[in-house]
Amino acid sequence: MLTQNNIILQHNQNSKKATVASTRNLLRNIYNASTVEATYFWGQNSNGVPVDMIKYIDTDGTEVPISVLKENAFDASRWAGTRKPAYYVGTWPPNSIHDLLGTPAKEEECASCRAIMERCGCDYPTWADEMQDFFVDKIRISSTPGKGHGLFSRAKIPQGTALGEYTGELVPKALYMSMHDDETQYVADIDIGKWKCVGGKLTTRRPSCGIDARYRGSFLRFLNHSCDANSRLAVVRVGMGARVLITESLRSIDKGEEITIDYGSEYIRPGESCLCGSKTCRYRRIEKVDDVGMDDAESEHTKETANEGDDSDVSMHSDHSDDDSGSEYGHGNGRVCRGFLI
Ligand SMILES: [Zn+2]
Ligand SMILES: [Zn+2]
Repeated sequence: MLTQNNIILQHNQNSKKATVASTRNLLRNIYNASTVEATYFWGQNSNGVPVDMIKYIDTDGTEVPISVLKENAFDASRWAGTRKPAYYVGTWPPNSIHDLLGTPAKEEECASCRAIMERCGCDYPTWADEMQDFFVDKIRISSTPGKGHGLFSRAKIPQGTALGEYTGELVPKALYMSMHDDETQYVADIDIGKWKCVGGKLTTRRPSCGIDARYRGSFLRFLNHSCDANSRLAVVRVGMGARVLITESLRSIDKGEEITIDYGSEYIRPGESCLCGSKTCRYRRIEKVDDVGMDDAESEHTKETANEGDDSDVSMHSDHSDDDSGSEYGHGNGRVCRGFLI
């Protein structure tokens, strides 16, 4: 079996100029788990050509390549002995991904066919394959000034498109809530267990767990924050066998545009500035006040956070302590999702 590196070397020796078709084939080859020894994420140039393997820098300084996960991973030993969350319906402790995410209600929307009732006959493995192709053909991972790596569209994407599944290792909420900020920045929330449907309405009490994409996950772990985001996270299902966390476009996304989500009100901590660059950045006010005194700005920000920091928003932690580009440690999209709008 070849390594991704060897495939890229061979490709570069054989073709002098990258074309759209050759780049597509190259990417499909390096991300095809059945023909490559191990699949890791690569940073790409503006044409989509892979140029450097991306490394996550651990808290002890170790550089770790980031594995591509098409589907979530699960380790039962992490769940043994953990407390069953309030309102959880299902097997506890869970023995498989299916125990946690395999029993969506038929009323939950299907990401594949968008049907909400019995009409849906979708198949999760087929959809996961399609999403992997979508990533390889339509998205590129590139470094962004001051924000580490980010995601960019390589084609025009219509509003309401499922961009892929946010995958990683499923971890109990109690475990990731006790982690250090630097360790939880790639953890997103997903609802678990069976949901009750009373009078046609789904229960609003939904326990959740974390999807930890630090060392392995889908390309969506590279999503950066914007106060004017063009995409959002949503919990949906695919067929009746799998609940998934997806990113979907909120509006039409142009070719070359960065794909972003809103990390929520806890993302920027007092004294930090937002790098989203949007005209409607809700933290611009704070930066402007720098000249006239920070006191007012900080108290205003604290108030805002206190009012909005509830479980109904996407909410993520920032990590601007190292704002270099190209290094995972300096990644500007540090985040913890502690809940999101569906
Ligand atoms: Zn369906
Ligand atoms: Zn902003």
